[in-house]
Amino acid sequence: MQPGYVYFHPHEVSAIAEYLGISEARFTRAYDLSWMPGSKLWALEAADGQGCPLLTEDRLCSVQPVKPAQCRTFPFWPELLDDAARWERTKAYCPGLDAPDGRLYAEAEIRQLRAEASEP
Ligand code: SF4
Repeated sequence: MQPGYVYFHPHEVSAIAEYLGISEARFTRAYDLSWMPGSKLWALEAADGQGCPLLTEDRLCSVQPVKPAQCRTFPFWPELLDDAARWERTKAYCPGLDAPDGRLYAEAEIRQLRAEASEP
């Protein structure tokens, strides 16, 4: 698993806590989220090589219907779409990128997806 961070807007923390049926404070404590005042985002560290702590034992997202914009827009992040070498490196740990049985997303579809994900 690729180590990294998952970032949440405050409204996403609210939505996930509600989905899980717990308070926001309990969610942020349980998953050890860090508040980053500069960006006004919560950060969840997934640095132990086990992947995101919100993955189930079956490697599925336990908060799929309310997962954060970062996850809903992957892999259509500007830093990946604008950098072919980085896209290739990302493929090394994400077999879904350029998967032979995958489908091609039109530019308009990607723009729509990103616009929807940025709405609170
Ligand atoms: S999709 Fe779900 S499990 Fe995967 S990184 Fe996002 S929140 Fe975590």
